[in-house]
Amino acid sequence: MTDPRAIALDLVSAEAAAPGARAPESAAPAARTNLFDLDRASLERFFEETLGEKKFRAHQVMKWIHHRYVTDFAQMTDLGKALRAKLEAHAVVHAPQLVFDKASADGTHKWLLGMDPKNAIETVYIPDKGRGTLCVSSQVGCALNCQFCSTATQGFNRNLSTAEIIGQVWIAARHLGNVPHQQRKLTNVVMMGMGEPLANFDNVVRAMSIMRDDLGYGLANKRVTLSTAGMVPMIDRLAEESDVSLAVSLHAPFDELRTELVPLNKKYPLDQLMEACVRYARRKKSSVTFEYTLMKGVNDQPQHARALARLMRQFDNAVQMKDAAKVNLIPFNPFPGTRFERPDETAIRAFQKLLNDAGLIAPVRRTRGDDIDAACGQLKGQVMDRTRRQAEFRKQLQARGVGHEATR
Ligand code: SF4
Repeated sequence: MTDPRAIALDLVSAEAAAPGARAPESAAPAARTNLFDLDRASLERFFEETLGEKKFRAHQVMKWIHHRYVTDFAQMTDLGKALRAKLEAHAVVHAPQLVFDKASADGTHKWLLGMDPKNAIETVYIPDKGRGTLCVSSQVGCALNCQFCSTATQGFNRNLSTAEIIGQVWIAARHLGNVPHQQRKLTNVVMMGMGEPLANFDNVVRAMSIMRDDLGYGLANKRVTLSTAGMVPMIDRLAEESDVSLAVSLHAPFDELRTELVPLNKKYPLDQLMEACVRYARRKKSSVTFEYTLMKGVNDQPQHARALARLMRQFDNAVQMKDAAKVNLIPFNPFPGTRFERPDETAIRAFQKLLNDAGLIAPVRRTRGDDIDAACGQLKGQVMDRTRRQAEFRKQLQARGVGHEATR
Protein backbone atom coordinates (compact mmCIF):
# COMPACT_ATOMS: atom_id res chain seq x y z
CA MET A 1 0.00 0.00 0.00
CA THR A 2 1.15 3.54 -0.67
CA ASP A 3 3.06 5.12 2.19
CA PRO A 4 0.93 7.97 3.61
CA ARG A 5 3.96 10.21 3.70
CA ALA A 6 4.30 9.80 -0.04
CA ILE A 7 0.95 11.41 -0.57
CA ALA A 8 1.10 15.06 -1.49
CA LEU A 9 -1.94 16.60 0.07
CA ASP A 10 -4.18 18.28 -1.47
CA LEU A 11 -6.37 15.51 -0.03
CA VAL A 12 -8.74 15.42 -2.91
CA SER A 13 -5.97 14.55 -5.30
CA ALA A 14 -4.61 12.14 -2.68
CA GLU A 15 -7.86 10.24 -2.96
CA ALA A 16 -7.27 9.60 -6.62
CA ALA A 17 -3.54 8.97 -6.17
CA ALA A 18 -3.51 6.44 -3.35
CA PRO A 19 -4.73 2.88 -3.74
CA GLY A 20 -7.22 2.15 -0.98
CA ALA A 21 -7.93 5.83 -0.38
CA ARG A 22 -11.45 6.74 0.66
CA ALA A 23 -13.65 9.51 -0.67
CA PRO A 24 -13.46 12.57 1.59
CA GLU A 25 -16.67 13.38 3.39
CA SER A 26 -18.30 16.70 2.57
CA ALA A 27 -16.80 19.86 4.04
CA ALA A 28 -18.50 21.35 7.12
CA PRO A 29 -20.46 24.45 6.18
CA ALA A 30 -19.05 27.27 8.27
CA ALA A 31 -22.40 28.68 9.37
CA ARG A 32 -23.60 25.46 10.97
CA THR A 33 -22.32 24.10 14.28
CA ASN A 34 -20.36 20.87 14.07
CA LEU A 35 -21.85 18.73 16.85
CA PHE A 36 -18.54 16.87 17.23
CA ASP A 37 -17.28 20.11 18.79
CA LEU A 38 -19.73 19.88 21.70
CA ASP A 39 -19.53 17.84 24.88
CA ARG A 40 -22.69 17.00 26.83
CA ALA A 41 -22.93 20.37 28.64
CA SER A 42 -22.40 22.45 25.51
CA LEU A 43 -24.72 20.26 23.43
CA GLU A 44 -27.47 20.68 26.03
CA ARG A 45 -26.97 24.44 25.86
CA PHE A 46 -27.10 24.31 22.06
CA PHE A 47 -30.40 22.43 22.17
CA GLU A 48 -31.94 24.81 24.70
CA GLU A 49 -30.60 28.13 23.45
CA THR A 50 -30.24 27.67 19.69
CA LEU A 51 -32.90 25.10 18.93
CA GLY A 52 -35.38 25.87 21.75
CA GLU A 53 -35.52 22.16 22.60
CA LYS A 54 -35.36 20.10 25.78
CA LYS A 55 -31.98 18.86 27.07
CA PHE A 56 -32.86 15.19 26.75
CA ARG A 57 -32.97 15.61 22.97
CA ALA A 58 -29.26 16.38 23.12
CA HIS A 59 -28.75 13.04 24.86
CA GLN A 60 -30.57 11.19 22.09
CA VAL A 61 -28.40 12.86 19.47
CA MET A 62 -25.17 12.03 21.37
CA LYS A 63 -26.15 8.37 21.37
CA TRP A 64 -26.85 8.42 17.64
CA ILE A 65 -23.47 9.96 16.94
CA HIS A 66 -21.13 8.21 19.37
CA HIS A 67 -22.87 4.86 19.97
CA ARG A 68 -24.37 4.17 16.56
CA TYR A 69 -22.06 6.25 14.34
CA VAL A 70 -24.95 7.97 12.57
CA THR A 71 -24.19 11.45 11.22
CA ASP A 72 -27.24 11.99 9.02
CA PHE A 73 -30.06 13.63 10.98
CA ALA A 74 -32.62 12.01 8.66
CA GLN A 75 -31.61 8.62 10.08
CA MET A 76 -32.13 9.66 13.71
CA THR A 77 -35.54 8.06 13.77
CA ASP A 78 -36.56 8.79 17.36
CA LEU A 79 -36.44 12.55 16.68
CA GLY A 80 -39.52 14.27 15.28
CA LYS A 81 -39.53 15.60 11.73
CA ALA A 82 -39.57 19.22 12.89
CA LEU A 83 -36.51 18.74 15.10
CA ARG A 84 -34.63 16.95 12.34
CA ALA A 85 -35.34 19.91 10.04
CA LYS A 86 -34.07 22.33 12.71
CA LEU A 87 -30.91 20.30 13.15
CA GLU A 88 -30.40 20.25 9.40
CA ALA A 89 -30.63 24.05 9.35
CA HIS A 90 -28.32 24.75 12.32
CA ALA A 91 -25.98 21.80 12.70
CA VAL A 92 -23.79 19.28 10.98
CA VAL A 93 -21.93 16.18 12.16
CA HIS A 94 -18.66 16.38 10.32
CA ALA A 95 -15.77 13.92 10.87
CA PRO A 96 -12.19 14.35 9.67
CA GLN A 97 -11.54 13.00 6.18
CA LEU A 98 -10.30 9.44 6.13
CA VAL A 99 -7.45 9.46 3.61
CA PHE A 100 -6.62 5.82 4.25
CA ASP A 101 -5.79 3.28 6.88
CA LYS A 102 -3.18 0.55 7.27
CA ALA A 103 -3.15 -2.66 9.30
CA SER A 104 0.00 -4.07 10.89
CA ALA A 105 0.72 -7.80 11.06
CA ASP A 106 0.49 -7.53 14.88
CA GLY A 107 -3.07 -6.11 14.85
CA THR A 108 -2.05 -2.46 15.23
CA HIS A 109 -4.02 -0.16 12.94
CA LYS A 110 -3.13 3.31 11.71
CA TRP A 111 -5.37 5.95 10.13
CA LEU A 112 -4.20 8.96 8.14
CA LEU A 113 -6.86 11.62 8.63
CA GLY A 114 -7.11 14.85 6.66
CA MET A 115 -7.92 17.82 8.86
CA ASP A 116 -8.00 20.42 6.11
CA PRO A 117 -6.84 20.47 2.49
CA LYS A 118 -3.17 20.78 3.48
CA ASN A 119 -2.76 18.94 6.78
CA ALA A 120 -3.19 15.37 7.97
CA ILE A 121 -2.53 13.61 11.26
CA GLU A 122 -2.14 10.00 12.33
CA THR A 123 -4.13 7.98 14.84
CA VAL A 124 -3.10 4.50 15.99
CA TYR A 125 -5.02 1.61 17.60
CA ILE A 126 -3.05 -0.96 19.58
CA PRO A 127 -4.90 -4.12 20.67
CA ASP A 128 -3.44 -6.07 23.56
CA LYS A 129 -4.57 -8.75 26.00
CA GLY A 130 -8.04 -7.68 27.11
CA ARG A 131 -7.66 -4.07 26.04
CA GLY A 132 -7.61 -1.83 22.99
CA THR A 133 -5.78 1.49 23.20
CA LEU A 134 -6.19 4.38 20.80
CA CYS A 135 -3.33 6.87 20.53
CA VAL A 136 -4.89 10.24 19.62
CA SER A 137 -3.26 13.40 18.24
CA SER A 138 -3.96 16.88 19.61
CA GLN A 139 -2.15 19.16 17.15
CA VAL A 140 -1.03 19.22 13.52
CA GLY A 141 2.69 18.75 14.16
CA CYS A 142 4.22 20.01 17.40
CA ALA A 143 6.02 23.18 18.38
CA LEU A 144 8.06 21.65 21.21
CA ASN A 145 10.92 20.11 19.22
CA CYS A 146 11.85 17.15 21.41
CA GLN A 147 15.04 15.90 19.79
CA PHE A 148 14.14 12.21 19.52
CA CYS A 149 10.62 12.70 18.12
CA SER A 150 9.59 12.18 14.52
CA THR A 151 6.63 14.57 14.82
CA ALA A 152 9.00 17.34 15.91
CA THR A 153 10.91 17.18 12.62
CA GLN A 154 7.75 18.24 10.83
CA GLY A 155 7.30 21.52 12.66
CA PHE A 156 3.93 22.88 13.71
CA ASN A 157 0.84 24.09 11.93
CA ARG A 158 -2.11 24.45 14.32
CA ASN A 159 -4.18 23.07 17.18
CA LEU A 160 -6.88 20.51 16.42
CA SER A 161 -10.47 21.42 17.26
CA THR A 162 -12.53 19.29 19.66
CA ALA A 163 -14.30 17.87 16.59
CA GLU A 164 -10.97 16.90 15.04
CA ILE A 165 -9.83 15.20 18.25
CA ILE A 166 -13.03 13.29 19.05
CA GLY A 167 -13.42 12.62 15.32
CA GLN A 168 -10.30 10.42 15.54
CA VAL A 169 -11.98 8.34 18.26
CA TRP A 170 -15.22 8.19 16.27
CA ILE A 171 -13.52 6.98 13.07
CA ALA A 172 -11.51 4.32 14.90
CA ALA A 173 -14.47 3.17 17.00
CA ARG A 174 -16.69 2.92 13.93
CA HIS A 175 -14.02 0.98 12.04
CA LEU A 176 -13.58 -1.42 14.98
CA GLY A 177 -17.32 -1.97 15.46
CA ASN A 178 -17.02 -0.64 19.01
CA VAL A 179 -20.30 -0.53 20.93
CA PRO A 180 -19.87 1.45 24.17
CA HIS A 181 -21.09 -0.47 27.25
CA GLN A 182 -21.53 -3.69 25.24
CA GLN A 183 -18.85 -4.68 22.79
CA ARG A 184 -15.86 -2.65 23.77
CA LYS A 185 -13.01 -2.83 21.33
CA LEU A 186 -11.84 0.55 22.51
CA THR A 187 -11.02 0.43 26.22
CA ASN A 188 -8.34 3.13 26.60
CA VAL A 189 -7.38 6.41 24.99
CA VAL A 190 -3.95 7.97 25.34
CA MET A 191 -3.38 11.57 24.24
CA MET A 192 0.12 10.66 23.06
CA GLY A 193 -0.13 11.11 19.30
CA MET A 194 1.10 14.18 17.46
CA GLY A 195 1.27 17.36 19.51
CA GLU A 196 1.47 18.60 23.11
CA PRO A 197 -2.10 18.20 24.44
CA LEU A 198 -1.73 20.80 27.20
CA ALA A 199 -0.86 23.42 24.58
CA ASN A 200 -4.38 22.89 23.21
CA PHE A 201 -6.04 22.75 26.60
CA ASP A 202 -9.72 23.62 26.07
CA ASN A 203 -10.24 21.49 22.97
CA VAL A 204 -8.46 18.50 24.50
CA VAL A 205 -10.34 18.71 27.81
CA ARG A 206 -13.69 18.94 26.01
CA ALA A 207 -12.82 15.95 23.80
CA MET A 208 -11.71 13.93 26.84
CA SER A 209 -15.03 14.73 28.48
CA ILE A 210 -16.85 13.09 25.53
CA MET A 211 -14.54 10.07 25.76
CA ARG A 212 -15.50 9.61 29.42
CA ASP A 213 -19.20 10.40 29.09
CA ASP A 214 -21.70 7.49 29.16
CA LEU A 215 -23.39 9.14 26.19
CA GLY A 216 -20.00 9.27 24.47
CA TYR A 217 -17.50 6.42 24.68
CA GLY A 218 -18.07 5.60 28.37
CA LEU A 219 -14.40 5.21 29.28
CA ALA A 220 -13.44 5.26 32.96
CA ASN A 221 -11.44 8.32 34.02
CA LYS A 222 -8.31 6.29 34.62
CA ARG A 223 -8.54 4.81 31.11
CA VAL A 224 -8.07 8.20 29.49
CA THR A 225 -4.45 9.34 29.78
CA LEU A 226 -3.00 12.71 28.89
CA SER A 227 0.72 12.76 28.22
CA THR A 228 2.65 16.02 28.51
CA ALA A 229 6.25 17.06 27.96
CA GLY A 230 5.86 19.12 31.14
CA MET A 231 3.80 22.31 30.76
CA VAL A 232 3.79 22.96 34.49
CA PRO A 233 1.02 25.60 34.86
CA MET A 234 -1.29 23.56 32.66
CA ILE A 235 -0.78 20.43 34.77
CA ASP A 236 -2.27 22.38 37.68
CA ARG A 237 -5.13 23.56 35.49
CA LEU A 238 -5.77 20.01 34.32
CA ALA A 239 -6.02 18.91 37.95
CA GLU A 240 -8.72 21.54 38.50
CA GLU A 241 -10.75 21.02 35.33
CA SER A 242 -10.53 17.36 34.39
CA ASP A 243 -10.15 13.94 35.89
CA VAL A 244 -7.88 11.77 33.79
CA SER A 245 -4.64 9.86 34.23
CA LEU A 246 -1.46 11.87 33.84
CA ALA A 247 1.67 10.72 32.03
CA VAL A 248 4.83 12.81 31.76
CA SER A 249 7.49 12.46 29.06
CA LEU A 250 10.53 12.50 31.32
CA HIS A 251 13.36 10.87 29.32
CA ALA A 252 16.18 12.13 31.57
CA PRO A 253 16.77 12.43 35.33
CA PHE A 254 19.17 15.41 35.04
CA ASP A 255 18.27 18.95 33.97
CA GLU A 256 21.15 19.38 31.56
CA LEU A 257 20.37 16.21 29.61
CA ARG A 258 16.62 16.76 29.76
CA THR A 259 16.96 20.28 28.38
CA GLU A 260 18.93 18.85 25.49
CA LEU A 261 16.29 16.18 24.76
CA VAL A 262 13.14 18.11 25.73
CA PRO A 263 13.84 21.84 25.25
CA LEU A 264 10.71 22.73 27.27
CA ASN A 265 12.75 21.68 30.32
CA LYS A 266 14.60 25.00 30.12
CA LYS A 267 11.35 26.82 30.93
CA TYR A 268 10.03 24.25 33.41
CA PRO A 269 13.00 22.39 34.94
CA LEU A 270 12.74 19.06 36.73
CA ASP A 271 12.14 20.40 40.25
CA GLN A 272 9.15 22.48 39.07
CA LEU A 273 7.84 19.62 36.94
CA MET A 274 8.08 17.07 39.75
CA GLU A 275 6.37 19.44 42.19
CA ALA A 276 3.47 19.90 39.74
CA CYS A 277 3.22 16.10 39.41
CA VAL A 278 3.15 15.75 43.19
CA ARG A 279 0.28 18.27 43.39
CA TYR A 280 -1.58 16.36 40.66
CA ALA A 281 -1.10 12.96 42.31
CA ARG A 282 -2.14 14.27 45.73
CA ARG A 283 -5.22 16.00 44.42
CA LYS A 284 -6.32 13.02 42.30
CA LYS A 285 -5.07 10.41 44.77
CA SER A 286 -3.59 8.55 41.85
CA SER A 287 -0.26 7.53 40.43
CA VAL A 288 1.57 9.38 37.66
CA THR A 289 3.29 7.55 34.81
CA PHE A 290 6.73 8.76 33.75
CA GLU A 291 7.64 7.85 30.17
CA TYR A 292 11.33 7.22 29.61
CA THR A 293 12.53 6.66 26.05
CA LEU A 294 15.78 4.72 26.17
CA MET A 295 18.41 5.98 23.72
CA LYS A 296 21.71 4.18 23.27
CA GLY A 297 24.61 5.91 25.00
CA VAL A 298 22.46 8.98 25.76
CA ASN A 299 20.26 8.19 28.76
CA ASP A 300 20.58 4.42 29.21
CA GLN A 301 23.60 4.20 31.51
CA PRO A 302 23.61 2.94 35.13
CA GLN A 303 23.99 6.48 36.49
CA HIS A 304 20.81 7.47 34.66
CA ALA A 305 18.91 4.48 36.08
CA ARG A 306 20.09 5.23 39.61
CA ALA A 307 19.22 8.94 39.37
CA LEU A 308 15.82 8.07 37.88
CA ALA A 309 15.13 5.66 40.74
CA ARG A 310 16.04 8.39 43.26
CA LEU A 311 13.75 10.91 41.57
CA MET A 312 10.88 8.44 41.61
CA ARG A 313 11.40 7.54 45.27
CA GLN A 314 11.40 11.24 46.18
CA PHE A 315 8.13 11.53 44.27
CA ASP A 316 6.55 8.60 46.17
CA ASN A 317 7.65 10.12 49.47
CA ALA A 318 6.27 13.56 48.58
CA VAL A 319 2.94 12.09 47.50
CA GLN A 320 3.00 9.76 50.52
CA MET A 321 1.77 6.88 48.45
CA LYS A 322 3.52 3.62 47.65
CA ASP A 323 4.16 3.24 43.92
CA ALA A 324 2.81 6.71 43.15
CA ALA A 325 5.43 6.86 40.40
CA LYS A 326 5.20 4.37 37.58
CA VAL A 327 7.91 4.27 34.95
CA ASN A 328 7.29 3.16 31.38
CA LEU A 329 10.47 2.28 29.53
CA ILE A 330 10.22 2.81 25.78
CA PRO A 331 13.13 1.56 23.69
CA PHE A 332 13.71 4.25 21.07
CA ASN A 333 12.00 3.57 17.75
CA PRO A 334 14.29 4.90 15.00
CA PHE A 335 12.93 6.98 12.12
CA PRO A 336 14.71 8.10 8.96
CA GLY A 337 17.37 10.71 9.58
CA THR A 338 17.45 10.48 13.38
CA ARG A 339 20.82 10.60 15.16
CA PHE A 340 19.58 8.41 18.05
CA GLU A 341 19.75 4.63 18.30
CA ARG A 342 17.85 1.96 20.16
CA PRO A 343 19.88 0.25 22.93
CA ASP A 344 20.34 -3.48 22.58
CA GLU A 345 18.17 -5.87 24.57
CA THR A 346 20.87 -6.51 27.22
CA ALA A 347 21.25 -2.80 27.95
CA ILE A 348 17.46 -2.38 28.16
CA ARG A 349 17.12 -5.28 30.63
CA ALA A 350 20.07 -4.02 32.69
CA PHE A 351 18.45 -0.56 32.97
CA GLN A 352 15.13 -2.12 33.95
CA LYS A 353 16.80 -4.36 36.55
CA LEU A 354 18.40 -1.39 38.28
CA LEU A 355 14.97 0.23 38.57
CA ASN A 356 13.32 -2.99 39.76
CA ASP A 357 16.07 -3.51 42.33
CA ALA A 358 15.27 -0.03 43.66
CA GLY A 359 11.63 -1.19 44.09
CA LEU A 360 10.17 0.52 41.03
CA ILE A 361 7.53 -0.83 38.66
CA ALA A 362 9.08 -0.25 35.24
CA PRO A 363 7.64 -2.29 32.37
CA VAL A 364 9.32 -2.13 28.97
CA ARG A 365 6.84 -1.14 26.29
CA ARG A 366 6.87 -3.62 23.45
CA THR A 367 7.22 -2.10 19.99
CA ARG A 368 3.97 -2.38 18.08
CA GLY A 369 3.11 -1.54 14.51
CA ASP A 370 6.66 -0.76 13.39
CA ASP A 371 5.95 -2.36 9.99
CA ILE A 372 3.49 0.50 9.35
CA ASP A 373 5.55 3.26 11.07
CA ALA A 374 3.01 3.36 13.89
CA ALA A 375 5.38 2.68 16.78
CA CYS A 376 5.71 5.15 19.63
CA GLY A 377 7.47 8.34 18.51
CA GLN A 378 7.12 7.56 14.81
CA LEU A 379 3.90 9.42 13.96
CA LYS A 380 4.29 11.98 11.21
CA GLY A 381 1.15 12.75 9.24
CA GLN A 382 1.40 15.64 6.82
CA VAL A 383 2.15 19.06 8.23
CA MET A 384 2.26 22.32 6.30
CA ASP A 385 4.92 23.66 8.60
CA ARG A 386 4.43 27.21 9.89
CA THR A 387 7.75 27.05 11.72
CA ARG A 388 11.11 26.58 9.97
CA ARG A 389 11.58 23.13 11.48
CA GLN A 390 11.14 20.96 8.39
CA ALA A 391 13.59 23.09 6.44
CA GLU A 392 16.10 23.05 9.31
CA PHE A 393 15.85 19.27 9.69
CA ARG A 394 16.40 18.86 5.96
CA LYS A 395 19.46 21.13 6.13
CA GLN A 396 20.94 19.15 9.05
CA LEU A 397 20.45 15.90 7.16
CA GLN A 398 22.08 17.29 4.05
CA ALA A 399 25.05 18.40 6.15
CA ARG A 400 25.31 14.82 7.47
CA GLY A 401 24.93 13.39 3.96
CA VAL A 402 21.60 11.70 4.73
CA GLY A 403 19.27 11.24 1.73
CA HIS A 404 16.49 13.71 1.08
CA GLU A 405 13.85 10.96 1.19
CA ALA A 406 14.49 10.68 4.94
CA THR A 407 12.65 13.95 5.49
CA ARG A 408 9.48 12.96 3.69
S1 SF4 B 1 7.54 14.13 22.01
FE1 SF4 B 1 5.47 15.01 22.11
S2 SF4 B 1 5.79 17.08 22.92
FE2 SF4 B 1 7.80 16.37 22.19
S3 SF4 B 1 7.92 17.12 20.08
FE3 SF4 B 1 7.08 15.02 19.98
S4 SF4 B 1 4.87 15.33 19.94
FE4 SF4 B 1 5.79 17.25 20.68
